[in-house]
Amino acid sequence: MSLQDFERYPLTFGPSPIHPLDRLSTHLGGARIWAKREDVNSGLAFGGNKTRKLEYIVPDILAQGADTIVSIGGYQSNHTRQVAALAAHLGLKAVLVQEKWVDWPDSVNDRVGNILLSRIMGAEVRLDPAGFGIGFKDSWNQALEDVRSAGGRPYGIPAGASDHPLGGLGFANWAQEVAQQEQELGVFFDTIVVCTVTGSTHAGMIAGFAGQDRLRRVIGIDASATLAATREQVARIARSTAELIGLGRDLREDEITVLEGWAGDVYGIPVQSTLDAIRLTGSLEGVIIDPVYEGKSMAGLIDLVTQGEIGKDSHVLYAHLGGQPALNAYSALFTT
Ligand code: PLP
Repeated sequence: MSLQDFERYPLTFGPSPIHPLDRLSTHLGGARIWAKREDVNSGLAFGGNKTRKLEYIVPDILAQGADTIVSIGGYQSNHTRQVAALAAHLGLKAVLVQEKWVDWPDSVNDRVGNILLSRIMGAEVRLDPAGFGIGFKDSWNQALEDVRSAGGRPYGIPAGASDHPLGGLGFANWAQEVAQQEQELGVFFDTIVVCTVTGSTHAGMIAGFAGQDRLRRVIGIDASATLAATREQVARIARSTAELIGLGRDLREDEITVLEGWAGDVYGIPVQSTLDAIRLTGSLEGVIIDPVYEGKSMAGLIDLVTQGEIGKDSHVLYAHLGGQPALNAYSALFTT
């Protein structure tokens, strides 16, 4: 099997744009930095990385004749917002378990941003007091059971669409897309920087790039603050995806790099480097990133370039995976 053998249901506009971040690159005085923009990849509720993953899961949803998609995430989950959009687009129902993954004091946390958008799109939103965790939860099983006992046909998509047999394919495809865009742009990205939490974005990239001729580094920046579990999940999904797309060899340990240092102590709580990265990217480039995910991966990129860990001759591709709607829940951080 190869990636081309898997059916893809298009939800995106086409290849997501790549452009240089010239003023940021000059400011940091090191490598040339570019961005590939999953935050503008689709017309469905602002898109994002999950929309790409879902393109490979939709054929299975339709084949199983499901009438309700059940999924799970935090109150400000970008993933559940993209699932709500998908359900609306396909004419299906959505039941979303929204857990209290982040103990954030802002009183509008469960009303603005992503969760607001999911409600607008008609999803059934179930608030749940459980904390952060990327594994399978009782509340999720309960939601599936509730749909079944009401006579419905549920289709479960786990947190971040990651721990799903097809979850890595979307970003294996991203790797192929990058290779094509490199030819058009006449540039080779020797280093990719990506935010990692539930793992299949990074894992799919690893599997996809591993099949290409030229070697490059794919650096995952942990934003989960549970590094060991996240690294384990990335490795597992990368290997299963590599097998699925017929890579024909085992992935080496050195192909799986998840760096810590920018997540802070807790998922979802920005630290000073996150806020600095958000302001720097916004003020130099007019590019908006969020305090939960991309603010942390950008903080990592900034330090790696500044410290010379990513060399001056490098062309770095920063994967902007979306996530801006969550900013509304963090307005207290930006009052001046
Ligand atoms: N960036 C954004 C905006 C996200 O919503 C997510 C989702 O968790 C990530 C990065 C991390 O991607 P993944 O969960 O596939 O590791």
